[in-house]
Amino acid sequence: EAKESGRNCYKFYAQEMGRRIDQYVEMENALRVALDQNQFEVYYQPKVNLRSGKYCGVEALIRWNHPQNGMIQPGTFISLAEKSGMICPIGEWVMRTACAQAKEWCEMGFDDISVAVNLSAYQFSHENVANLVSRILSDTGLGAHYLELELTESMLISDSDNMLMALREIKAIGVTLTLDDFGTGYSSLAYLKRFPFDVIKIDRSFVRNITTDANDASLTKTIVLMAKSLKMKTVAEGVETQGQLGFLSSIKCDVVQGFYLSKPINAAALTELLRKQKGHPVVPRESVP
Ligand code: C2E
Ligand code: MG
Ligand code: MG
Ligand code: MG
Repeated sequence: EAKESGRNCYKFYAQEMGRRIDQYVEMENALRVALDQNQFEVYYQPKVNLRSGKYCGVEALIRWNHPQNGMIQPGTFISLAEKSGMICPIGEWVMRTACAQAKEWCEMGFDDISVAVNLSAYQFSHENVANLVSRILSDTGLGAHYLELELTESMLISDSDNMLMALREIKAIGVTLTLDDFGTGYSSLAYLKRFPFDVIKIDRSFVRNITTDANDASLTKTIVLMAKSLKMKTVAEGVETQGQLGFLSSIKCDVVQGFYLSKPINAAALTELLRKQKGHPVVPRESVP
């Protein structure tokens, strides 16, 4: 009887595995079809430099216009794209699209707008990201200093020797390196010392309560001060209120991004925003130089 139940158990396991593999293959296929049929779209969320009060860049954020299910957010498919390896062709498409768009904005006279692209760990372990970046910059004609790459702390934990080499190569091209979601991972100060980041992006979980929670206010202020002494710039993400913006301005955070300024929007809408604001500050510029 034990044998029989063992067999049943195995049978169940095999069926379950089969189902999972089917779902997995289905998802990979769906992502491949999406890429082939142009169902992905890059949205852009503007960032504002607090010293000038003007737009200084955008973050590229992928969206999936699914023919049946409507607009799908990256939170629901990026991890599947990573598991299936589809993140490589998808990530390449995002970078190419974002760089081509930034080049277009340059040619339209919006030549102070940089574009930030998010990367996944899988891309670093399965392809030469530095080569990819060089190729895309030369294909699109975009100047390297207009491109910023966002990495998270979790990407730095494993295989950090290879990561360090890759980041040094990318940095040598002239691209800006940003540590995204700072404060949510291990936030080891050793990472800041070891890896050549130019920008720290303070996670929105800190920003959320800066006007109500003294600890979050003090942590945020400390991160900004630390970044300054390391000659790094700071971006605060998830800014939703005027109060948060005021506080960030008072502690001399360099750049802000969040729904208070704009949600992520498509390229045409962002172009319209840039047109409307051309030459004018979006928020009052800092009074103290
Ligand atoms: P992230 O890089 O930290 O991007 C910021 C996320 O916060 C975006 O979500 C953005 O819409 C959202 N956000 C911005 N301002 C506010 C705000 O004021 N309040 C709130 N509550 N949220 C705000 P989104 O677009 O859903 O992207 C989620 C994550 O998906 C990104 O987090 C990034 O890790 C990943 N992702 C997006 N596009 C790509 C991509 O092309 N490649 C890779 N590898 N990952 C991507
Ligand atoms: Mg990001
Ligand atoms: Mg982030
Ligand atoms: Mg995030």
